[in-house]
Amino acid sequence: MKVKPLKRMQRQMVLCMLCSNCSATCCSFKARGWESYTPRARVVMSRFFSEGGFADPAPFAERLFACTMCRECDVTCDAGFSPWELFQSARAELWASGAAPSALKPFNDAIKEAGNPFAFNKEARGDWATRAGNMLATDNKNLLFAGCIPAFKQGDALAKIARAYHAMGKPLSVIPGSRELCCGLPALDSGNVDLFNDRMAANIKAILDLAPERVVFACPSCYSFVKEHYGKESTEFGKIPLVFFTDDVIEGIHANRLKVKGFDSETLVSYHDPCHLGRFTRLWDSPRDIIKAVPNARYLELDNCKEHTACCGAGGQMMVTNPADNKAIADKRVGEAVEKNAAVLVNTCFTCQDTLQGAAFRVAEDLDVVHILDLVDV
Ligand code: SF4
Ligand code: SF4
Repeated sequence: MKVKPLKRMQRQMVLCMLCSNCSATCCSFKARGWESYTPRARVVMSRFFSEGGFADPAPFAERLFACTMCRECDVTCDAGFSPWELFQSARAELWASGAAPSALKPFNDAIKEAGNPFAFNKEARGDWATRAGNMLATDNKNLLFAGCIPAFKQGDALAKIARAYHAMGKPLSVIPGSRELCCGLPALDSGNVDLFNDRMAANIKAILDLAPERVVFACPSCYSFVKEHYGKESTEFGKIPLVFFTDDVIEGIHANRLKVKGFDSETLVSYHDPCHLGRFTRLWDSPRDIIKAVPNARYLELDNCKEHTACCGAGGQMMVTNPADNKAIADKRVGEAVEKNAAVLVNTCFTCQDTLQGAAFRVAEDLDVVHILDLVDV
């Protein structure tokens, strides 16, 4: 994958009319309230940076990396260019020149050395599979791309997904040993394009070697970035169907192979679309259909939903670069559910789950934040 040099994007940057439509919906601007944290200011600063205008790029870098890369400005801007693509190029140039925030370096080093952002022993990636008992297959008809967070931190959830697929009659197989690596998204968000390309090439080879019929994803972010980039890199990879697990789970429910849990009495339930699932890949039906299948769940749509979803605050590696903004954005997101009187906020992403659950502890103690797997009875 190549990121366009900023200089070659100057024709896009001059398209910005400074209308500020993008500011009203930008989560990072809402968290800070300063004009220099709006998308349009980031566009103007990127143009100035591309013309060599900053003697010291640090203040620009601070503002650019205080963006969740949620891509909402791409949806609201109708000037005919992608602010998000521009920010990706600017991040790449800041990383290449050594001006990206130093907080990003340790986990980029970990992705390079250990194949995951936590610097965990790469050989431990598949340890969760022991919790799946004999529910896994070896035929690679449905090959799981586990993802770093599920594999190292959510082994019970992955075992649950494995049980669900077994119950549906399409058991999962796994990429053996330490051959599955980080999908590369955190590196790309950092501007470290070379590391993203390196991880992508290794994962493509590992998967093609297994000749799977389909690849199944547990993490919205891995799903989104593999879908967006890997097929462009390898035509052979591009022919493999890629599936997010909720699309299969709802089929399993409709086919009576899977059951959902129920609430004791009528309960107002909302759904948070993770940016990478809702806005990036436009997958929003199956999670809603799973919720609607739950007895006594009364479904409530949040105002910011589907392609206009609001970020949980963790996008763009904000947890390491801007933890205070991350929390402020998450607090606003759970506030939306509280305003609707929702009792339960469901999501499909383990990172959103942690971030929004933390926010609920701080500002919405009556709101239950649950991962969609908690609704499935396996
Ligand atoms: S909506 Fe588009 S054109 Fe308007 S200020 Fe934002 S980036 Fe510029
Ligand atoms: S990507 Fe999201 S956080 Fe970043 S400038 Fe655009 S709307 Fe704001």
